[in-house]
Amino acid sequence: MGGRTLVALNATKTATATYLPKTPFARQLEEQVDHYFESTGQKRRDVPRMYLKTAIMLAWLALSYLALMFVVTTPWQAVLGALSLGLAMAGVGFNVQHDGGHGAYSDRPWLNQAMALSLDLLGGTAYFWHYKHNVAHHTHPNVEGHDDDINLGILGRVSPYQKWHSLHRFQHLYLWAIYALLALEWQTTGEFRNLISKRHVGSTRVPFPRGRELFIFWAGKAVFFGLAFGFPLWRHSFGQVIGVYVIAAATLGLVLATVFQLAHCSDRAQFRKPLLGGTSVERPWAEHQVETAVDFGRSSRVLCWYLGGLNFQVVHHLFPKICHIHYPALAPIVEQVCAIHGVNYFAFPTARAAFRSHVRWLRIMGRNPAHSPAEESARVAAAI
Ligand SMILES: [Zn+2]
Repeated sequence: MGGRTLVALNATKTATATYLPKTPFARQLEEQVDHYFESTGQKRRDVPRMYLKTAIMLAWLALSYLALMFVVTTPWQAVLGALSLGLAMAGVGFNVQHDGGHGAYSDRPWLNQAMALSLDLLGGTAYFWHYKHNVAHHTHPNVEGHDDDINLGILGRVSPYQKWHSLHRFQHLYLWAIYALLALEWQTTGEFRNLISKRHVGSTRVPFPRGRELFIFWAGKAVFFGLAFGFPLWRHSFGQVIGVYVIAAATLGLVLATVFQLAHCSDRAQFRKPLLGGTSVERPWAEHQVETAVDFGRSSRVLCWYLGGLNFQVVHHLFPKICHIHYPALAPIVEQVCAIHGVNYFAFPTARAAFRSHVRWLRIMGRNPAHSPAEESARVAAAI
């Protein structure tokens, strides 16, 4: 009996989660979105506005870097330059790298790959990101044991299926520091650890990169460390270089993590876990994608431009291969089809409302479940 249980648990750990068959809801969604592109004559990818946006984002990044290298003279100018650099890096990640990584940028695979590789310029690794984000997260958003994005280890509890520890009572206060350290961690040590030992993210197997992929990994690290530390040390002191790096990396980590958390770790999003020993999340794929994400700030032009469509996370999860420039037009279509089929689509009117919801959820998940078992079991039931 004990042996059988162990095999079942191991199976859950390594097998990809499955979904119930496709429903009329998913079919109507696809039809309506097809109709949108046919009736407007717009292209799903290779959108001229996206090329312009890429140029602006990369120029912002380059100008922030060059200003820090050659123009800045006072500490306050350095702080402002580092903040600008961190925001520009996040902007490139949201807009250029994310679309490229999903194949949503262009119909030409080499162009998607070139855009995806901007992550290596930012200190990450496009190869590992593909498995963590495209496969593990997008295939099973908010599914315990499968979506690595909701796995904060002992430091955070964001799903009712995760074990509670007493320090979680304060997670709504301290997790911001963890978010700020995320980019610093993957830039300096995390990606090397992934290379040496990480063979799974959630239930997704990550093959060791070989040949061209391994060359790109090391070339990317050489470029990043050269740009972040090598060249700056040629003109500035060690303390100045480290100070600017820490501010830029903390800005990048905080902005990236917060935006993704607002969309998935909310008291309006669902969390699921396959039944013990099984892999099915007992819900069709499209419905699951809608129910495990929220949109926010749909009418904000600033958010729509800067966040690369990540405030339309529901649309993104349903149609990840469509350029994010189209999301504001597709969101009302998705909302309408959800209403017709009784699928629970939710959008916060502002980023502030989504932020408050994230904090509320952290506080709820931070409470000791033993003190309110009825509430906790109701949450688990609702999550299923
Ligand atoms: Zn994505």
